[in-house]
Amino acid sequence: MQQISQLDHRFTEEGASFFLGWDIHRHYEEDELRSAELLHLVVRAHFEPPGAMCGTEYDDSVACGHCGAGARQVSDLILNTRRIPKGKDIAQTIAGEVVVSPRVVQACRDQGLHGAEFRPVRHRGRSGLAPAEWSQLVITSKPLKLHARTVTGNHPFDLDEGNRHRCPNGHVAGLNQISELYVHRKGWDESDWCRTDKLFGMRQGELRPEPRLLISQKLRQVLVGMKARGFELEIAHLVEGPGRKG
Ligand SMILES: [Zn+2]
Repeated sequence: MQQISQLDHRFTEEGASFFLGWDIHRHYEEDELRSAELLHLVVRAHFEPPGAMCGTEYDDSVACGHCGAGARQVSDLILNTRRIPKGKDIAQTIAGEVVVSPRVVQACRDQGLHGAEFRPVRHRGRSGLAPAEWSQLVITSKPLKLHARTVTGNHPFDLDEGNRHRCPNGHVAGLNQISELYVHRKGWDESDWCRTDKLFGMRQGELRPEPRLLISQKLRQVLVGMKARGFELEIAHLVEGPGRKG
């Protein structure tokens, strides 16, 4: 690790970053995943173009002037659904729009899972708009409060000490999430689909800051049981409030 840090410093001095591309993959044992109350759902299936380039309308006038958070989607999600990676059940555009397959929607309904709505997605094809079998995942549960123990930064060796990528209004926690997720237990109403209150990333071009998705153990079991694809799971930590054992 130290060697990588030194390498990065050298590259940074030379005006380039060693970390032009990096990604953290954490490995867990099956029983660790099985005993977690809450898990961070990391979508791994990505696609373009994002909704805005296919006709999805956003109202950016309500967005934060610093970080761009809070833009409202004011139309159905319109996509070229043929670009969604094949064989996946959950996938995400580069703008953070998340879609789920019909079988995920069905399983959530059958199992009575809550915390999300599945809204219609429309496909923009050569002959105009058509209904799509995919649904947009919209988290409706109360956002979980990100705990300060979550390490954020530009990359593992640059934790953004100048706060360049943290919104002064508190919307964006940082460009990237470096550690596992920590959220306050207080405020979790045991919803199966959740998201963090704070966002990650930045508003630039088609990119938008996005929250982190969390799922309950019950939902994990449903997704694992149906062999759903397109994501990885990490353990998320629920931090007890002051005065209680954490
Ligand atoms: Zn902001």
